[in-house]
Amino acid sequence: MNLKSLIRDIPDFPKPGILFRDITTLLGDPQGLRYTIDILAEKCGTLEMQVDYVVGMESRGFIFGAPLAYKLASGFVPVRKKGKLPAPVHRIDYQLEYGTDSLEVHQDALTPGSRVLIVDDLIATGGTASATAKLLEKIGCELVGFGFIVELKDLQGRKHLPDVPIISLVEY
Ligand code: AMP
Repeated sequence: MNLKSLIRDIPDFPKPGILFRDITTLLGDPQGLRYTIDILAEKCGTLEMQVDYVVGMESRGFIFGAPLAYKLASGFVPVRKKGKLPAPVHRIDYQLEYGTDSLEVHQDALTPGSRVLIVDDLIATGGTASATAKLLEKIGCELVGFGFIVELKDLQGRKHLPDVPIISLVEY
């Protein structure tokens, strides 16, 4: 199946000069959605990553992460923007192009030594995925890999990630 044909390009969103890769069209396609989750689970399976938890970043990481966790028979743990999670959190602050941002995870969601797979819809600069990896490493989790639907190759985001398998289904 040609997943690229199901992803819509929106020029100049959210600001001029950005070509936004919109996965909502893929989500709305019944065969496309099923195929995406199946192939992601298959690729994670062939790497023999035994995964205790899939960790997905707000918000599109939730959409792909939760069904992937179901397929891998693992738990799903959300990583959210500052102030959204109700119980005590671990936090990481990270650099954006302009300013900083924070990501949080519940303190009791993950235990040291748990094997985690980080999932998001897209890797661009790698800043979000790298910050999430650092947050999980601080907790003492064992990172088994990353899964993305889309990878923007030119931005070389994977250079900023730890040396574990990085799976992406569609490259631009
Ligand atoms: P980064 O931290 O630079 O790797 O950016 C990753 C996050 O920003 C992902 O959660 C994406 O959803 C979003 N993102 C960045 N660039 C794009 C783009 N060109 N199209 C769609 N989403 C993007």
